[in-house]
Amino acid sequence: MHMQALNGFREMVLGGTMPNPVIISLLISVCSELNLLRVGKELHCFVIRHKMDDNIHVGTAIINLYSRCSTISEAQSVFDRMRTHDAICWNTILAANFKDGNCDRGLALFDQMRKEGIRLTNASWNIIIGGCVQYGQNESAVDFFRRMQVAGFRPDQITILTILPVCGNLELLCGGRAIHSYVLRSRLTNSLAMETALSLMYAKCGDLEMSQRVFDMILSKDLVAWNTIIIANSMHGDGVKALALFREMLETGIRPNSVTFTGVLSGCSHSRLIEVAVSIFNSMEKDYCIEPQSDHYSCLVDLLGRAGRLQEAYELLLKNPAKETAPAWGALLSACRVHKNVELGRLAAARLFEIEPDNPGNYVSLFNILVAAKRWDEAAEIRKMLRDQGVGKRPGISWIHVKNKTYKFLVGEKSNEQTEEISRFLQDVRKKMNDAGYLPETENVLQDVDQAEKEAALCNHSEKLAVAFGVLNSTGGQSTIRVFKNLRICRDCHNVIKFIAKVIQKQIIVRDSTRFHHFRDGLCSCGEFW
Ligand code: ZN
Ligand code: ZN
Repeated sequence: MHMQALNGFREMVLGGTMPNPVIISLLISVCSELNLLRVGKELHCFVIRHKMDDNIHVGTAIINLYSRCSTISEAQSVFDRMRTHDAICWNTILAANFKDGNCDRGLALFDQMRKEGIRLTNASWNIIIGGCVQYGQNESAVDFFRRMQVAGFRPDQITILTILPVCGNLELLCGGRAIHSYVLRSRLTNSLAMETALSLMYAKCGDLEMSQRVFDMILSKDLVAWNTIIIANSMHGDGVKALALFREMLETGIRPNSVTFTGVLSGCSHSRLIEVAVSIFNSMEKDYCIEPQSDHYSCLVDLLGRAGRLQEAYELLLKNPAKETAPAWGALLSACRVHKNVELGRLAAARLFEIEPDNPGNYVSLFNILVAAKRWDEAAEIRKMLRDQGVGKRPGISWIHVKNKTYKFLVGEKSNEQTEEISRFLQDVRKKMNDAGYLPETENVLQDVDQAEKEAALCNHSEKLAVAFGVLNSTGGQSTIRVFKNLRICRDCHNVIKFIAKVIQKQIIVRDSTRFHHFRDGLCSCGEFW
C-alpha cells in the first residue's frame, strides 16, 4: 500500500512528528519502486535539510533511487559525498554501474572494493558475476565464480542460476557437472528454476541423457521446463522424441506458447517429419491462437526446402506476414543450394541482399549455386559484389574441451602442439577410408583446382582437426568426444567423423551451427538429413 504510506508520512510531518532515518529510507525505496523521481527528490531535500544524509541506509536508498529512476552520475555523486560506506552501499553503486551499461566501470569499482578492504558479501559476487554475464563476458563470469569460492564464499541459489547458463553457453560440461554436484550437496535443488537450468545446461553441453534425467526428476513441470526438454531433444536432432514430449505436455493440460512451437517444429525439421510439421504449423493459429512468427516459418521452409519441395517453401514464404524474415529466406537459399535450383536461389538471394546486405553468407551461397550450375559469368559478378562490399567469408572454427582447457582450431590450424600427430591420424583415416571404398566429397570445395588439391583442402577442416585432437587425447574410460563448431559441418567431415567413430568405438558428438550430430558405429543420428 505504497500510496497510503506516502500519505501517512505527509500527515506525520504536518502533525509535527519527525520521522527517523528508517522511515525515510523505506519511503525512498517506495519512490524507486513506483518510479516517483520527483517525490523521491523532495525526500532527498528533506534528508539534507534535516542532516540525515550521513545515514548509511538513507544514502543507500537515495543511490538506488537515482540509479533506477534517473542517471548514474547523480547516484554516483550521492555515493561520493557520503563519508562512510558499508558493503550494502557498495553493492548498490556496483549494481547501478552495471545497470547503467558500464561494464568496465563496474569491474574497476569491484577492484577498488577489494583494494579498500570492503567486506564483500555473497551479493557483491552475485552482482559482479551477473554483470559479466549481462555483457556477454562469459569467461570473466567463470573466473569470478572461481575467485568467489577461493575467497571462501559459498555460491547461493542466485549465483548458481547466474552461472549455469554460462556453462551452457561455453559448453563447460565438467564445470556444469561440478556445479550440479555442489547443488545436490548443498540441497539447493528444490527449485523448479534450478532444475530447469540444469536440464538446459546439460543439453547445451551435449549431454542429452543427463538433461533428460534431470527433467524426469522434476515433480511439477511448468511450461518453461517442458519447453526446455522439447528444445533439448530438437537440438540433438530427435524430432520424434520432441514430438512425443510435446503431446505429453498437452495431455498434462499445459498450453504451449510460441517457444514450444519453435522447439517442436525445429525438431520435426531435423527429423524430416514433414506432414506432422505442416499440421502442427497450421494448428498454431487455429487451435492455440498463436500467430506463427519468423522462427516458425523458418523451420517449415527449411524442412520443405531440404526435402526438395522448394516451390511449396517459396509460396509459404510469400504468405509470411512477419517482418523479420531473413532466417526463413536463408533457409530457402541453402535448400536451393542443396537441390541446385538456380531460379529460386536467385530470388531468395535477391530478397536477402535487401534485408541484410552485410551478411556475406548470402553472397557465398548464391556464388556456390551459380558455380555448381557452371554459370561462371554470373558467379564472377557475385564474387565482385562480395569484394566491393568488403565482407569476407566467416572463418570456420571448431573447439573442444580437454581436461578443463578449451582448444580452438581454425581451418588448417598449425599452432597446436600435436599438429603432426593430428595430420598423421587424419591421413591414416583417409587411407583406411580409401581402402574401404569411400571417396572424398569434394563438392564443398569450389575453387578451380585439381582433385588432389581439393582433397588436401578438405583434410584440414577445423572440425576434423578438433575431432582428431579429441581422439588423440581421450582416455580409456571416456566414452564420448564432444566437439563444437560455429558453422555447418560439411559433407566430407560428416563422412570422415562417422568412419572415425566406427574405428575408435566411441561416440563422437559434434554440434554445428544448427544442431547436434551423434556419431556412433559408423552412423550419425541425423540420418544424413541436415
Ligand atoms: Zn569439413
Ligand atoms: Zn549428422
